[in-house]
Amino acid sequence: MNLHEYQAKELFEKYGMPVSKRSLITNKENIEDALDQINFSDGCVAKVQAHTGGRGKVGGVKLCRSIEDVKVFVDQWLGKNIVTIQTDNEGLPVNVISLEELTNISKELYMSLVVDRGSKSISMIVSEAGGMNIEEVAETNPEKILKAQLNSDFKILEDEVAHIAKQLSLNESQSKEFNEIIDSCCRLFKDKDLSLLEINPLVITDKGHLHCLDAKINVDENALYRQEDLTVLRDASQEDQREYEAKQSDLSYVALDGNIGCMVNGAGLAMGTMDTIKLYDGEPANFLDVGGTATKERVSTAFQLILSDKNVKGILVNIFGGIVRCDLIAQGIIDAIKERSVDVPIVVRLQGNQSDYGKELLNQSGLNVIGEDSLQLAAQKIVELVR
Ligand code: GDP
Ligand code: MN
Repeated sequence: MNLHEYQAKELFEKYGMPVSKRSLITNKENIEDALDQINFSDGCVAKVQAHTGGRGKVGGVKLCRSIEDVKVFVDQWLGKNIVTIQTDNEGLPVNVISLEELTNISKELYMSLVVDRGSKSISMIVSEAGGMNIEEVAETNPEKILKAQLNSDFKILEDEVAHIAKQLSLNESQSKEFNEIIDSCCRLFKDKDLSLLEINPLVITDKGHLHCLDAKINVDENALYRQEDLTVLRDASQEDQREYEAKQSDLSYVALDGNIGCMVNGAGLAMGTMDTIKLYDGEPANFLDVGGTATKERVSTAFQLILSDKNVKGILVNIFGGIVRCDLIAQGIIDAIKERSVDVPIVVRLQGNQSDYGKELLNQSGLNVIGEDSLQLAAQKIVELVR
């Protein structure tokens, strides 16, 4: 789960990290209020709050020298969507704008902590080439990427930090600040079960101090049950609507680019189903695992999810009945189709527990549902039909 920059900065603050003073605008009426809460002598930086980076490149981060500038910025963004290289073509809604006190920058660094599967540890990545796309730096100037691993106490050895500080040409007091920031980041990462913490840019100000100008935090979804104070920070407006609804109903759903909706029970079978569709040159519109305990209600919700995707031109249902009874699934499918007028072809493969009875129900329903016994044939059929 991602946090907004302003939420991440609140956490940074709690951990003693240097961030700019901020105030938030959520509607056009509170611009003046927001301005009153910060020091606006030389201006401020207005920042769109959305779960994406690359805001700066599309005008979503702007230096405002006058109150008029702020008003223009708010008019331009509030209630609109922001599209960046990290979002899809639709972009993400802007419901909050943050005003930050101005920082004068002399250098932009990059710093992050990530779960690094390669080294089976949490890695710190630092670079003197901050503010830019770090993936690009990694490709063109790999020598500019410095790495260190956190040990099992969630700490980085002092010597290693000193070495990195030296490579970044930090002076003594900056090295001390750097040390403190790393220490805070490591504690925050551990305490809050993060999977990513990124500061890009981490700047050296004109006065020579280190300062966190941007903040990105991703919390491990699987740990949210024990991070109640973070759970309330979830902003559903920033998430894929279908993925969000699926989560509410305990379904695993991942939106994809294709046009064949898939409804499968079991993650492995769902993967196998997608592979088979691709084998016959089809493109799945989603991954959807209705779970080992698929019920009529879950099938109905799953159908609703799949059909809310405009790209879906056909549906493949692949259910293996172990504990779950195929006749109940069949009834769920029939009810779901009857409830809303489904006008795309549906191919159903039911195998296992009570599958004969399930197939019979589908055949007798008079609905345009095609039954197939083998996955290969079912996949071939749906690929053919969506063409
Ligand atoms: P992102 O583009 O979404 O990653 O947003 P950032 O928060 O990283 O802002 C983009 C860029 O705006 C930064 O790399 C800075 O160069 C610039 N910026 C942000 N805040 C300030 C500020 O207080 N002062 C100055 N001079 N530049 C800023
Ligand atoms: Mn940034």
